[in-house]
Amino acid sequence: MDIRFLGGAREVGRSALLVDDRLLLDYGAKPTTPPAWPLECDPEAVVVSHGHLDHVGGVPALLSGRDPPPVHWTPPTHEFTRLLARDTLKLHGGTPRCPFAENEVRRLGEVSVEHGYREPFAAAGYEVTFYDAGHIPGSAHVLVEDDDGDRLLYTGDFHTDAQRLVDRSTARPDADIVVCESTYSDVDHAPRERVEERFAEAVRGTTLQGGTVVVPAFAIGRTQEVLLVCNANDIDCYVDGMGVEVLDALVNYPEFVRDADALRGARTNARTVTGRDGQRRRIADTNTVVVTTSGMLTGGPAMTYVPAIADSPTNLVAFSGYQVEGTPGRDLLETGSATLDGRRPPVAARREFFDLSAHADHDGLRAFLSAYEDARVLVNHGDRCVAFAEELRADGFDATAPERGERVEL
Ligand SMILES: [Zn+2]
Repeated sequence: MDIRFLGGAREVGRSALLVDDRLLLDYGAKPTTPPAWPLECDPEAVVVSHGHLDHVGGVPALLSGRDPPPVHWTPPTHEFTRLLARDTLKLHGGTPRCPFAENEVRRLGEVSVEHGYREPFAAAGYEVTFYDAGHIPGSAHVLVEDDDGDRLLYTGDFHTDAQRLVDRSTARPDADIVVCESTYSDVDHAPRERVEERFAEAVRGTTLQGGTVVVPAFAIGRTQEVLLVCNANDIDCYVDGMGVEVLDALVNYPEFVRDADALRGARTNARTVTGRDGQRRRIADTNTVVVTTSGMLTGGPAMTYVPAIADSPTNLVAFSGYQVEGTPGRDLLETGSATLDGRRPPVAARREFFDLSAHADHDGLRAFLSAYEDARVLVNHGDRCVAFAEELRADGFDATAPERGERVEL
C-alpha cells in the first residue's frame, strides 16, 4: 500500500489522500480567499469521511469525465455535500475559483453510494468500513483493508468527548497504519460544561446591557450544537444561513444524532431569519443572539451582522470554532481587525472565543492513539503536525508528518 498526500498535510483544509493511485479518501477545499484545492487526481473510487467543506468541497470536480468514480459516504455526508456544493456554486460558480459547475453537482446523486457505520463495502478493490467518529452527524473513521490484509485507518476529524449533537468516538479497529488528524494537538479543551457556562454568562451579560451577540458558526454541526446549548440554557436566539437547511435535513437522520428530541427542541427555540426587508439589520439592533454562517467570516449573513454590530463595545462577536490561518475570523480574533466583504470596518465590539470544539484535544488524541502504539502513525490536518509527530516519536511511536505531495510507502 502507498499513500499520497494531495492536501491537508501540515495544514488544515483541502484534505485528500490517495491510496495506491486508486482509492481517494476525501477531496476538500481550503476556505481561504480564493479557495485552495488539493492536487489533481483520477481515482477509481472516492470515500468521504464527513460532510465538511475541507473534506468534501472538491468532490464535484472529480465528476466531469465520461466515467465518474463512485462516491461512498454516509447518508448525512451525502446530504451535506450537496448543500456545500450549491453554496460553492453560489459564491464562486462560473469563475476560475470554482473547479466544477452545475452539471457536476447534479451528478452527485448518480455516483452516490450510501453506507451506515460498521457495514463493510468494496471500493476500488479494497474492503472499507465506516466507524462513528463523533465529530458531526455522519462523520466516520475510515478503515481500508487491501488483499494482503494491510489495514489503513484514516481517522478523519473526530472527537473523544461527547457533544450535545453527537456522541463521542469509541471504535478502535485494528490497523497497521493510522493517518491521524491533529487540529488541536497543542490544546486542552476546558470541560464542555464550563465552556457552556461561560458562553451563557457572556451572552446574558451582553443582552442585559443592551448589546447584540453574533455567533459565527459553521453551518454543519456547530450551528446545531450552539442552538442546542442555547436551548439547554434558556437563551432565545435567531438562526441564519445554511445552518438552517442543515438543521432541517438532520430531522431525517435521527439515528445519526445523539438526541433527536433535544434537536427538535432547539429547532423550535431558534427563530429562523429569512433575510427579507432589512430583517438582519433590525436583528443587529436588538438585544438578542444570532447564530449565523460563516463560521470564519468568509461570507454568508455574518457579513451583514458583524459590520452592523462592530461599532459598539457593548456588542459581542462570540466565535464558536476553530479559525483557519488566513481567514477574516482568525484576523478579527487575533488582531481586532479584518477585511469583511472587501471593507475593513473599525471593530469596537468585544470578541471572545468559546471552545465548542468537535475535535479531540491533545489528551484526546493521545488517548485515541494509545490503541495504536504498534502502528505506523502519519499525522495530518493541523497547524503543527511536525511538532506533534516529534512528540509521538519521543514517546516511542513510529510517527511522521508528511508534506503535501509526498508519497509514503508502507
Ligand atoms: Zn470536520
